[in-house]
Amino acid sequence: MRDTPRHSDVFIVGGGPAGLAAAIALRARGFGVTVADPALPPIDKGCGEGLMPNALVALARLGVSLPSHHVFPFRGIRFLSRENSVDASFPNGIGVGIRRTHLHQALIDRAEDAGATLLWGTQVKGLSKTGVELGKGTVACRWIVGADGENSRVRQWAGLDSPRNKSLRVGFRRHYKIKPWADCVEIYWASGFQVYVTPIGSEEICVAVISRDSHLRLDHALPFHPELFARLKNAPVTSTERGALSASRRLPRVYRDHVALVGDASGSVDAITGEGLRLGFEHGLALAEALADDNLGAYAATHRALMRRPAFMGALMLSMDRSAWLRRNVLNALSSEPRIFAAQLAMHVGEATTGEFIRQSMFPLGRRLLAA
Ligand SMILES: Cc1cc2nc3c(=O)[nH]c(=O)nc-3n(C[C@H](O)[C@H](O)[C@H](O)COP(=O)(O)OP(=O)(O)OC[C@H]3O[C@@H](n4cnc5c(N)ncnc54)[C@H](O)[C@@H]3O)c2cc1C
Repeated sequence: MRDTPRHSDVFIVGGGPAGLAAAIALRARGFGVTVADPALPPIDKGCGEGLMPNALVALARLGVSLPSHHVFPFRGIRFLSRENSVDASFPNGIGVGIRRTHLHQALIDRAEDAGATLLWGTQVKGLSKTGVELGKGTVACRWIVGADGENSRVRQWAGLDSPRNKSLRVGFRRHYKIKPWADCVEIYWASGFQVYVTPIGSEEICVAVISRDSHLRLDHALPFHPELFARLKNAPVTSTERGALSASRRLPRVYRDHVALVGDASGSVDAITGEGLRLGFEHGLALAEALADDNLGAYAATHRALMRRPAFMGALMLSMDRSAWLRRNVLNALSSEPRIFAAQLAMHVGEATTGEFIRQSMFPLGRRLLAA
């Protein structure tokens, strides 16, 4: 365990993926960085455990290398319902599945190499004008970064919370020992929930269910998809079911005075987008650049731009969650015209302009929905 310093240029509250990404990026800009988290590493969390191609680009920018024996590649996304199936490949590379604990360890290794001070088993109890309060004393700092996740206390303490623009769902995940059968992340659609399956090893998959019903568990959801249920029926379960909140949240502000927010603390998109981790990494990179220029306004602008596309795609997918008519007809249309789905995926990963997206996806989809 490291000694608690009395002073740090930057103090990061929360040592999850976003906090560690910020620590690495800030060290690269020459800041002295301390990170505190009450948990002990490597930290596990309910997550679908998929990293899309852009998340891998962000990790490469941070200098984080994922151990090849702990990742499993996937080429794209597949949507399935009882009646339909459609898939498309990413136009910009591959994604990988990785156990959350392995991802966390890779981030820790890089942050330690970069010279960040990591205080595990250490909760931040409050903020003061000059720094942060730990139970065992105060650490003075110039900047405070709130990376303390969905229910961020830093967000409250800094007066950045907002009850507006928030929608909550709940996710539960479990691992199974089974050879992955697909080279895509599979998203199974049903009424009021989605199950998604990520290959994370040559003999392991991660299965998550997300819904608005906090009582819905995988054991209730899986039988709605008989083929998936049959595949998993005799596969050994290799982890306990773990839940987490999935919020779509937009904040009017992501910084005040000397406090800035990153990752889920700073606003989030629904888990179905698979974009949460990438956003956390990119927030860290953008914040480091802005602090180096002493310009948190620039961070706020980049943050807004980063959130726009995933928030839009998340809203489109959540409208399919809410309306059975839309879900059925969109899935019908996509499976009979897979190039519409390919155009949507290209937009999702930032490889299509708005114009291309409207021409290649929204117009043809709209025509099919009108004819339905
Ligand atoms: C069901 C589900 C599936 C998902 N699937 C995917 C996916 O496949 N791909 C993807 O990219 N994203 C996915 N996400 C989103 C992703 O998990 C989150 O975006 C990501 O975990 C956010 O990282 P974070 O570091 O901001 O927050 P967290 O991971 O929540 O970390 C916050 C940290 O802050 C610490 N903390 C809290 N309070 C304090 C305090 N007072 N003092 C110090 N530390 C504190 C906590 O202990 C924690 O370690 C999924 C989310 C859910 C719910």
